[in-house]
Amino acid sequence: MTEQKKLDRKLSKFPRARLMTEVTPVERLDRLSDRLGIDLWLKRDDLTGLSFGGNKTRQLEFYFGEAVQQRADTVLITGAVQSNFVRTAAAAAARLGMKSVLQLEERVPGMGEQYYHSGNVLLAKILGAEHMRFPVGEDEVGADNALHERAAQLVAAGHRPYVIHLGIDHPPLGALGYVQGGAELSAQISDFDAAVVPSGSGSTHGGFLTGLRLSGMPAPVYGICVRRNQKQQNARMEKVLSKLADLMGFDPAIVMNDIDVWDGALAPGYGRVGEGTRDALNLMARTEGIFLDPVYSAKTFAGLIGLLDVGVIRKGQKVVMLHTGGLPALFGYQEVIGSV
Ligand SMILES: *Cc1c(COP(=O)(O)O)cnc(C)c1O
Repeated sequence: MTEQKKLDRKLSKFPRARLMTEVTPVERLDRLSDRLGIDLWLKRDDLTGLSFGGNKTRQLEFYFGEAVQQRADTVLITGAVQSNFVRTAAAAAARLGMKSVLQLEERVPGMGEQYYHSGNVLLAKILGAEHMRFPVGEDEVGADNALHERAAQLVAAGHRPYVIHLGIDHPPLGALGYVQGGAELSAQISDFDAAVVPSGSGSTHGGFLTGLRLSGMPAPVYGICVRRNQKQQNARMEKVLSKLADLMGFDPAIVMNDIDVWDGALAPGYGRVGEGTRDALNLMARTEGIFLDPVYSAKTFAGLIGLLDVGVIRKGQKVVMLHTGGLPALFGYQEVIGSV
């Protein structure tokens, strides 16, 4: 049996709701390649299809697979105010005939009007989701508990809720989407020297690394920290990968020594835009006509440039960057990024 078949068989054990538009493209960025002196390719997961696309569509296929299997009628989820995860979940719920309850956490200090009303917030309103607020942004367990309280009320009212957990102690179903995404990429392009991805909850980074390794691809995968520093993120990735190995039934040793996180592009912190992030966002737009988002994909690209500057990625190498989408957030950050 080929590696690919074995992996397909492992993934087919999990229920999956189809939300994606088939396979996303991989494109060579000719002008940026010239500019940076590398052979740069972009995996366009901003084009996954559902409601402005992005990485959450892949992840949600497995959560909604389970929700459908459990005959849920309402899905509950928590995230930052400009969360792409909650917006995409609301769209998936609408598509599958369910209601959604979105809890928005205060994670980013000092933001203006548009952050609270435009971008993903606007889209979620159009999608008809119920909204809740959570006052702190660094309490994953507390945020999950608040969802469970609302879920208990829904049960009492005769509904069948399904909670998508944020906390690290739950099975990383979303990472399965990126195991599949990594396998998809390895069938499209094979001989690259490095991949660069964002590392937030770790579902994308962990799943992608696993998908490449289970497809026999040895290239390093650099996870660019978007939320936590290197030490914290490293510890998180170890947890995500060991949970994923448990869930899928593979030997964690094939990925554990390959955790590579870099926090040189994180400042000034989660959801906040520094000069490097803004420059990266503008460079991509002005050189290739492709938009990045301020919270994740622009930081990822800033990280790629940073890794090139410090010599971890070297001139002439073939590099694939994962574009994880998140574009609606641009409109929540107008005051921050529209000024230059
Ligand atoms: C959520 C998100 C990420 C981070 O993905 P994780 O799987 O949480 O690490 C990256 N990019 C975008 C656009 C996102 O919305």
